[in-house]
Amino acid sequence: MLPLKYLQAYPATLQDKVRLLIAQQRLGEHLAKRYPDRHSVQSDKALYAYTMELKQQHLKNAPGIDKVLYDSKLDVVQRALGLHTAISRVQGSKLKAKKEIRVAALFKAAAPEFLQMIVVHELAHLKEVDHNKAFYQLCTYMLPDYHQVEFDLRVYLTWRELPRASEEDHG
Ligand SMILES: [Zn+2]
Repeated sequence: MLPLKYLQAYPATLQDKVRLLIAQQRLGEHLAKRYPDRHSVQSDKALYAYTMELKQQHLKNAPGIDKVLYDSKLDVVQRALGLHTAISRVQGSKLKAKKEIRVAALFKAAAPEFLQMIVVHELAHLKEVDHNKAFYQLCTYMLPDYHQVEFDLRVYLTWRELPRASEEDHG
């Protein structure tokens, strides 16, 4: 049986649905139908503006962000859901944490829903370090459909890594 590394935490019935779509070579078509749009957030500058707007809308009082960028070296396998870092820098005599949000570069070409989901995820980390209940409450507060979109994002990541030979026509 095909292992679905991004979907391991989901019920077997859901995983089997995805396996069936893969076997039928219909997963790309399925995703294209659900997520037909693309977005124009293509630069680090645009990503910063996009992130700050979401923060302003939903998390005004969360700590500030110093830097937001696309990272082409981000290991998507290990970090399917972005990377959150607080880099400590010595500034004068004080140690100040620098808040940085890195988003895997693959999200440039992904559906706007997936970009939104990943940015919401990273914003929630400004307030909650761990993936606990409070963290997911923040996520669904910013994006009510959060859990569904996260599942679909994981399906998208699965599809991206299907062997070329079985890649279907999704153009
Ligand atoms: Zn996280």
